[in-house]
Amino acid sequence: RAPDPAVEVIKENLALVKHKILVLSGKGGVGKSTFSANLAHGLARDVSNEVALLDVDICGPSIPRIMGLEGEQVHQSGSGWSPVYVEDNLAVMSIGFLLSGPDDAVIWRGPKKNGMIKQFLRDVDWGELDYLIVDTPPGTSDEHLSIVQYLSGAGIDGAILITTPQEISLQDVRKEIRFCQKVKLPIIGVVENMSGFVCPKCKNTSQIFPPTTGGAEKMCADLDLPLLGRIPLDPRIGRSCDEGRSFCSFCDQEPSIIQRIQDHLCR
Ligand code: ADP
Repeated sequence: RAPDPAVEVIKENLALVKHKILVLSGKGGVGKSTFSANLAHGLARDVSNEVALLDVDICGPSIPRIMGLEGEQVHQSGSGWSPVYVEDNLAVMSIGFLLSGPDDAVIWRGPKKNGMIKQFLRDVDWGELDYLIVDTPPGTSDEHLSIVQYLSGAGIDGAILITTPQEISLQDVRKEIRFCQKVKLPIIGVVENMSGFVCPKCKNTSQIFPPTTGGAEKMCADLDLPLLGRIPLDPRIGRSCDEGRSFCSFCDQEPSIIQRIQDHLCR
């Protein structure tokens, strides 16, 4: 099949974007969007970084809510669509900005969704960026193939896979890993979210989703993939997302997930 001419245009539009990272999960509800938003905040903490977060979860765009940008709209400028800025160095783009309200549903078939993804990559004035983080829909669908195809000219640094410790989530992440291998998408590593709950009163850790098969750690060891870190279940994370005050929940963790990602990108 002849290559889509958009690939070249997208390459040009993203010529000043240093790193492109996809965030994937096998299942919905494991915290992929929360992680993407937290990662964007974490990278933007360093004011010398220019960061953008692109939400291509066309049917369930939750990024506007998480980032406190509900009701915002995208503006058209001479050089394309302008993203919405949360901070001077943190820009966000989501289909949610194009809907008339948070309860509006997008009921589109594959080709229309792919057209929208193409527009996000081709027509948004991303400018000069250190990091473009792409929050994708759960699973491996048309949208994932489109992103990989559209970004094939511009290049993708790799994917970060989000899972919970539960076998039911890990099973789907294994499928995601096979997808990455098939389309030759490098895997930066795996993050285990909702990994234990630390009681704020007694400080004991409870396993809400006990790993029956060894959790992400064993899967990563078996498949020779880096485990970037674990993020506990924390009511403050859920609340801050609901209230649109997301922050970097793992930035002060040691060893740092951010540092591991940056180390990978520097290799
Ligand atoms: P996904 O993008 O995988 O569908 P979300 O990021 O929307 O998942 O997260 C699903 C729900 O879980 C949201 O309500 C979010 O606030 C909550 N959540 C995610 N991670 C955590 C966490 N570590 N602790 C507490 N709540 C979390």
